[in-house]
Formats: sequence, C-alpha cells, structure tokens
Amino acid sequence: AKAAGKRCVRSSGEAIDAAIGRRTRLARDLPTALEQGQLRVLYQPVVGVHDRRVLGLEALVRWEHPLLGTVSPDEFIHLAEEDGLIVPLQRWVLEVATRQAAVLMADGWDVQMGVNVSVRHLQAGCLAPDVAAALAAAHLPPGKLMLELTESVLLDAEGGLVSDLETLRGMGVVLSLDDFGRGWSSLAYLARLPVQVLKMDREFVAGIETGPRGRALVASVVELGRTLGMDVVAEGVETEEQVAELRAMDCRYLQGYLFGRPMPFADLRALLDTFDPT
Ligand code: C2E
Ligand code: CA
Ligand code: CA
Ligand code: CA
Repeated sequence: AKAAGKRCVRSSGEAIDAAIGRRTRLARDLPTALEQGQLRVLYQPVVGVHDRRVLGLEALVRWEHPLLGTVSPDEFIHLAEEDGLIVPLQRWVLEVATRQAAVLMADGWDVQMGVNVSVRHLQAGCLAPDVAAALAAAHLPPGKLMLELTESVLLDAEGGLVSDLETLRGMGVVLSLDDFGRGWSSLAYLARLPVQVLKMDREFVAGIETGPRGRALVASVVELGRTLGMDVVAEGVETEEQVAELRAMDCRYLQGYLFGRPMPFADLRALLDTFDPT
C-alpha cells in the first residue's frame, strides 16, 4: 500500500510536469501556428426547431499541431489572449468565416454566421474596424454576421466597450449573449447591452431531463427572451427528448451534437445539400 501511495504521488507529479510541458510548448508554438496555416475553422449548424433546416452556423477554431494533434480552443485561446496574438487570430477567424458565409450566400443559402469574440479584441479597440474590414472584403451583408459575446467578455466591459458594441450594432451586425446563464450576472447585462440573441448555456439544456425544476428554468429563459424580444438559441442539444421539450416551450433555434458536430466547410456544404438541393 505504501509503495502504491508513493507511486501515486510520483505519477501525479509527472502528470503536472507533463501538463506544464504541454502548456509551455503550446505557448511557444502558437506564434508560428497562424503563419504556418495550422489553424482551421470548423462550422456547427444551428437549426430551426420545427423543420430542422440550417438557419445559422457557429465558427469554431481548432489548432492542428504538427506533433500534438488537434488542440481545442479552450486550451489555446487564453494563451493567445495572454501574449497578444489574439487580435491577429480573431482577425483571421473573422476573415475566413465571413468569406465562407459569402460563398454559402452565393450558393443560395440564407444562413447567419456566428463568430466568437475575445474581450482582448474589444479592449484593443479594433474589433469594430476589423469586423467592418472582414465584411467589406467578403462582400457579406452585416446582418449575416453574429458576434457571440460571453459574460467574461462583458464582465470587463466598461462604458467604452459598450459604445464599441453600439457601433457594431449600428453597422447592422447581430450581437448575441453566449453561454447565457452560466455566470451570475447575465441578467444585468440584458438591460445594458444591445444584444438581440440569447444563447442559452448547455447546462440548462442538460437540466431538462433532471426534473420539473430543470424544465421550469429552461422555460423561464425562453420566456425571458420572448418578453425582451430576443431570439433564443438552445446550446448543447443532444437528445430527441430535449428537442420535444424545447419545441413545446417554443424555443425556435437549436444547436448541438444531435444536429451536427463542428465540421469542416466541405462537410457542411454536403450537409446543406441533403436538406435542399438547389
Ligand atoms: P462556445 O462558444 O460555447 O462554443 C460551443 C462549444 O460547445 C463548442 O466547443 C462546441 O463544439 C461544443 N458543443 C456544441 N454542441 C455540443 C453538444 O451537443 N454537447 C456538448 N457537450 N458540447 C457541444 P469548442 O469548439 O471546443 O469551443 C470551446 C469554446 O472555445 C467555445 O465555446 C468558445 O468560447 C471558444 N472559441 C471557439 N472558437 C473561438 C474563436 O474563434 N474565438 C474565440 N475568442 N473563442 C473561441
Ligand atoms: Ca459561442
Ligand atoms: Ca456557448
Ligand atoms: Ca464558451
């Protein structure tokens, strides 16, 4: 037992060393990732609750590391935020996502493209001009782009940042509050920010099957959105039971593995073609 305990201590030390090693390595390699074309954008569909047609997409970035394989954004976005790479990274994601959205539009698809925003980009003061430049380069109408703002973005939001959001809103870009309900202060932001879409955090959706309280919570978020004149997107939909409940609550937009995982652009086009060959 003693030996096992010792082994246990040693291996957790090794695990920590390995984790630090990975983090250091990722931080070291990140600057070259963008210029060497190691980042790619995947797209996850957002569908209508009734006919399940694809009405929107979310652009989700991945890093294909030459040695470590696919690295999740949860692992490298904060590294990019720490060393100032986030602005070029976000600029690149915006360019790719708006260009692909324009390609779909030219093919006759009417879908809105969601892009996640980093607070650092907003703080750097160039979010609005970078968005404007990407829209212009792609010839994409501003209303086809939706920026997804998380509470952590907004926690930092001072008066100046809110006015940048007003600028984007004035351009006709759609703004959404991402992961709605995950933190404690989302409600207050609804009054202060010019957002038109609520993306209900997947924890709520997961709660649907836990009982009447879980369902009541989801129903109240949907109702809150309706009262405020906002569209509500349910995130993380994985089961038909969840779809049935969300439909009964008249939650119009759904996103989750049930309808499609984040996928490369070519796969997405193939998926769209199965819906409505034009
Ligand atoms: P998010 O904005 O909340 O994006 C949704 C995440 O939920 C994605 O994880 C997606 O793959 C995952 N997801 C979708 N449907 C389901 C489901 O049915 N079940 C479960 N369990 N998960 C589902 P992903 O792609 O790993 O992205 C993680 C986070 O990284 C995103 O969370 C977003 O905050 C951030 N992120 C991704 N791309 C970007 C980007 O270009 N810029 C910035 N700043 N952040 C990004
Ligand atoms: Ca998002
Ligand atoms: Ca989310
Ligand atoms: Ca998130």
